[in-house]
Amino acid sequence: MSDEKIILTGVRPTGPLHIGHYCGALVNNVAIQNAGGYAHMYAMIADAQGLTDNFDDPEKVRRNVMEVALDMLAAGYDPTKTTMFIQSAVPELTELTFYYMNLVTVARLQRNPTVKGEIAQKEKFANGLPVGFLTYPISQASDITAFRANIVPAGDDQAPMIEQTNEIVHKFNSIYGEVLKPVKIVMPESSLAARLPGTDGNAKMSKSLGNCIYLKDSADEIAARVKSMFTDPKHLRVEDPGNTRDNPVFIYLSVFAKPEHFAAFLPEYANYEELAAHYERGGLGDVKVKKFLNSVLQETLKPIREKREMLARDTASVMEILRNGTERARAVAAETLADVKRAMRLNYFD
Ligand code: ATP
Ligand code: MG
Repeated sequence: MSDEKIILTGVRPTGPLHIGHYCGALVNNVAIQNAGGYAHMYAMIADAQGLTDNFDDPEKVRRNVMEVALDMLAAGYDPTKTTMFIQSAVPELTELTFYYMNLVTVARLQRNPTVKGEIAQKEKFANGLPVGFLTYPISQASDITAFRANIVPAGDDQAPMIEQTNEIVHKFNSIYGEVLKPVKIVMPESSLAARLPGTDGNAKMSKSLGNCIYLKDSADEIAARVKSMFTDPKHLRVEDPGNTRDNPVFIYLSVFAKPEHFAAFLPEYANYEELAAHYERGGLGDVKVKKFLNSVLQETLKPIREKREMLARDTASVMEILRNGTERARAVAAETLADVKRAMRLNYFD
């Protein structure tokens, strides 16, 4: 029993999901979901965590709960296989966080490289950092351990969170007895898919940075976003040699373009390597490459968008999926919380 696989994934409802989520998380998660061989799979919509840097805009978080639920279902989450739930509606998670806070130092939180980078990027924190934001890795440890998850599929920005979770697990177990399980992150095989850059060339496509191509974007929106993408700034004339390595257009192609896309839209090249080699040696223009990327993304996103449009006609059913999932999730989290409190000698009325 103790070796059974329990999987937890999460997204913050801070905006609709983008193609970075798609290649960094959704494709992997849906494949894991459909392959089976696990005891439970949970997908959390982390609204409470979303508020840690959007506390002044509760409507945004609320609205995006439905947006990300639609994105997840459109990308292939199946509520009969995966328990989809809303974080804030499982208050047991908050209580766990409060107990875990004793096990983590402020210095350790300040060293978390993902959190550090996010703080530096957020102008609104220039005059003061909310405690809730600094401590969100602790709340993630609660989310993971509450469901006894031992596998978390995620992009590479989550590696420091998983490391901190395991530190909390070990510290808790060594003080209070063996209650919590360590967890492993599962990242996409391609390091480019594990951190897809933004359309502006920023190292990470992120809802909070607005450098995204969204799963819900219309065909025209996709075309416009691809057209205005950052490429190699030194590739001025078609005949100039180009750089493909820090060039988001090429990075997206290496992640999304399949041999059948080449056959259908750019048959003079058999694959990504041939196209990239031509750009590197010079003689291939950005307009042609962007046109191809647009065709690839249109093909990839069209079925998702169509399914999403269908689901969006009945949001009441989607809410019902979340309500049922949340009820199930809450029962599991309550069991873990009871185990934790027993181990901490907080079970006075048992
Ligand atoms: P925010 O800017 O609000 O933090 P986000 O775009 O980082 O939003 P999250 O909801 O924080 O999205 O992340 C959800 C999941 O998607 C995580 O597993 C994360 O690792 C993954 N992910 C997010 N952005 C990318 C990206 N650009 N490339 C690959 N994976 C990503
Ligand atoms: Mg994030």
